Amino acid sequence: MSALARSGALTALRGDVALANIIIERFGLSNAFGHASARIPGTETFLMPTRRSPGLASAATLLVVDTEGKVLSGRGTPNSELWIHARVYAARPDVGGVVHAHPPACVCLTQIGQPHRVVHNQGGAFEGGVTEYERIGLIRTRELGDLLAHKLGAGIAVMMRGHGITTALSDVRAATVAACLLEESSQLQLDMLAAAGGDASRLRAYTREEAEGMSDQLSPRVVARAWEYYAAAAQKRPLGA
Ligand SMILES: [Zn+2]
Repeated sequence: MSALARSGALTALRGDVALANIIIERFGLSNAFGHASARIPGTETFLMPTRRSPGLASAATLLVVDTEGKVLSGRGTPNSELWIHARVYAARPDVGGVVHAHPPACVCLTQIGQPHRVVHNQGGAFEGGVTEYERIGLIRTRELGDLLAHKLGAGIAVMMRGHGITTALSDVRAATVAACLLEESSQLQLDMLAAAGGDASRLRAYTREEAEGMSDQLSPRVVARAWEYYAAAAQKRPLGA
């Protein structure tokens, strides 16, 4: 890739990261807290926003941070949970995008001891299971970042008890769509549990075979369509709405 093409690709990536942050705020996955990042392809560095609401992120103010947590360029302080991103990128060379958010339905599931279950078609994206990081509190050290990355393993999402979620996929668009789908799926699971009087055994969770049949919900084609919608809707919606 020529230097010019590389610089154009980086500008586009900056736009995606800013938009991913705005999407997670506008869609209720985070309010004042939460952050999305993207690996700069072929490097051990990533783009992440400064320490403010994801709803206020902008392409021009993103920082370049490395997997050791060092800020290499940009002005301002990174989010204190930068270690989530740094250590997931360090552990997973296949990951190009990470989203960390505090979506309420996911947090509720962790606090009633219910693992995520596939209960609707889009939930099929998580047929491989969503692991849980049980320890409460923020991920503000390299060691905690490593622990979280270990819990995530080779998966695409981890639930963090009483705290939120982290998704990790090949690019920031897919990681953002995954975060939105996981919250939608968790909200449905909670609604179903409530309708079933809290009896989890009454939920008609998809069998492994059924879930596998719907496991393409984060394919490039589906992600492109979902991202187009989330991006357009997030940009139309006023901050905090
Ligand atoms: Zn957090």
